[in-house]
Amino acid sequence: MEYVQNVDDIKNDGIKNLRDDIDKIDMELLELLSQRKAVSDKIIHKKLLRSLPVLDSAREKEIVERCLSVDFGLSDSFVNKFFNLIFDESKRQYYKLERFNSVLDYIKRKPIMIAGPCVVESEEQINIIASSLSALGVKYLRGGTFKPRTSPNSFQGLGNLGVKYLSEAARAHNMFSVTEILEAEQLEENYDLIDVVQIGSRSMTSYGLLKSVGALTATDGKLVVLKRGFSATLTEFLQAAEYILQAGNPNVILCLRGIRTFEQIDSSLRFTPDLASILELKERTKLPVIFDPSHSVGRSDFVVEVSNAALQLGADGLMIETHHSPANSKVDANQAIMPQSLLNILNL
Ligand code: PEP
Ligand code: MN
Repeated sequence: MEYVQNVDDIKNDGIKNLRDDIDKIDMELLELLSQRKAVSDKIIHKKLLRSLPVLDSAREKEIVERCLSVDFGLSDSFVNKFFNLIFDESKRQYYKLERFNSVLDYIKRKPIMIAGPCVVESEEQINIIASSLSALGVKYLRGGTFKPRTSPNSFQGLGNLGVKYLSEAARAHNMFSVTEILEAEQLEENYDLIDVVQIGSRSMTSYGLLKSVGALTATDGKLVVLKRGFSATLTEFLQAAEYILQAGNPNVILCLRGIRTFEQIDSSLRFTPDLASILELKERTKLPVIFDPSHSVGRSDFVVEVSNAALQLGADGLMIETHHSPANSKVDANQAIMPQSLLNILNL
């Protein structure tokens, strides 16, 4: 037996081992190609969110030239063909999306979920929450950084530092950062760290802010979530959105968040959920309409059901306050839910 094996080994001349090497390299190659495609998909997504042109033949040329400038012992024609195949595979993702005429159509294809804490409390807190949310497939990470508090003595948020923590947590978990700004300068200072700008209910009639945000975001079409003033009529809400549109940014998402009626007298609700306004807004505008159940009801035990109701009524998405330890939320503890509770929401 010994003798026969040795003969085989000699005949084999190590070929089996070399083939094992090839098989391993092939798997690694495919794994790398798959990683490359995932990165390229992320770029396409970001470009669409910014209304930037997706196809870039100059960039493709540059990649091939850079690769050809190093001698890997491969023919130029092989390197050329190989990269063209890779580019085609990456572009399939874009062609799948191309039927959407605009960024907003792209957003409207599937309800979007914006979730995260009322306020960014610390680097650790936002990272814990981002990690649970991204594991659930949530792509938009909200977190208040410049908080519009009713009392000047309440915690106002971490400001620029909060934006930094939010943005780093979002990037680390492959998510987009969403935060409210109260002044145009806050957006200017943190422009690249804020992926989606939120204009809060209390700022809906700050027309100077609306114009400035519209102008600042006109070039790249950064998404703006505009929340309904809690005492605003639908017409006033739409006119507020018009300020941003007319300043040059078409990418506005309307967010209903409850209106003020008689809750303060005998109800446990924080505001009255303006759910049927989803139907009417969708009749009156093509802009996506999302719903914030958290501020609407102000009670964590009602958040999931109101969210599902909003989706049933055709909401294009939700914005939900989530915290890993709701009772310990620094702000709005009564309405925070655990990230895992989002699993009870339709279409997550
Ligand atoms: C918020 O979403 O953080 C917020 C303050 O909500 P609103 O502006 O609707 O009160
Ligand atoms: Mn809040």
